Amino acid sequence: MTADAGLEALADRAALVLLYHGAWTTPPTELAGGLHNVPPVVMRSQLAAVGRHFEWVDVDTLAAMSDPRGYAAVTFDDGYRSVFDEALPVFEALDVPITVYLNGAVFEGRVFWRDKVRLVQNRGWVDAFERFADNVPRIPGRRFYRYTKDPGTNSARVDAELDRFLASRAAAPPPRYCVDDVDDLPRHDLVAYGNHGHHHYVMSSLDAAQQAAEVDRTARLLERLRGGRLSRWFSVPFGDARDFDAATTAVIEAAGYRGVLLSRGRVHDRPRRLHGAGSVERFMPTDSPLAFWPGALA
Ligand SMILES: [Zn+2]
Repeated sequence: MTADAGLEALADRAALVLLYHGAWTTPPTELAGGLHNVPPVVMRSQLAAVGRHFEWVDVDTLAAMSDPRGYAAVTFDDGYRSVFDEALPVFEALDVPITVYLNGAVFEGRVFWRDKVRLVQNRGWVDAFERFADNVPRIPGRRFYRYTKDPGTNSARVDAELDRFLASRAAAPPPRYCVDDVDDLPRHDLVAYGNHGHHHYVMSSLDAAQQAAEVDRTARLLERLRGGRLSRWFSVPFGDARDFDAATTAVIEAAGYRGVLLSRGRVHDRPRRLHGAGSVERFMPTDSPLAFWPGALA
């Protein structure tokens, strides 16, 4: 089946909510391993193909539909600079709206903790970290990148150990690849912003008070974006069913959010509930121009 035939068939039975992260033509070396990156030129061909068969709307509009078949939306998580520096012109050229989900802690001087994980990995320091961090349990059969985001291990503790480790190496501070100044977030007709948790911690690894802080601190920061459109949906860090729980649902509802955005490599056929929250399925295209939806059409 060609890409176009597959998308045409898909539009009859589902909506497509795309999830992108990095949008670098050439990702920074220290991020490249373990980063989900789609170069803008590839993104453009993907969007053109989707746009031949789906009608673009923003994700909040799509999420409110009882029958969203034939609609598509684009989301970005983590707020990497490349979204604005490299990808935005593509969305302007195609007139496609995007919603960018942010982690408030980076606007308070923190480095995105998963970039620290990637830094340790890409500098070949995993063994050294594991000797150093007696506070972060290893999980047999799981590599460093995976066990550090396990819901059974409090993400805040892993983040603190990463800071302690990097300080012990007297390494230069990790480079900051996310937009970290609110004034650098463009107010743009095609761009809306949303909440992706304050530190991008695994919500289900935290207690209820920590979860509430993760949601509320970034919600308050987003309210400072005067003139910027805000999404009423919470993008769950890591985006799988195990990454949040009923406590998360209670916290986001109390904060006025309508539900959660997931990342499970699925198409969105209709609103469904998960852990008591309304949920929207999202799909991460790979960096391949044509075969970018493996499995989704099966
Ligand atoms: Zn994320």
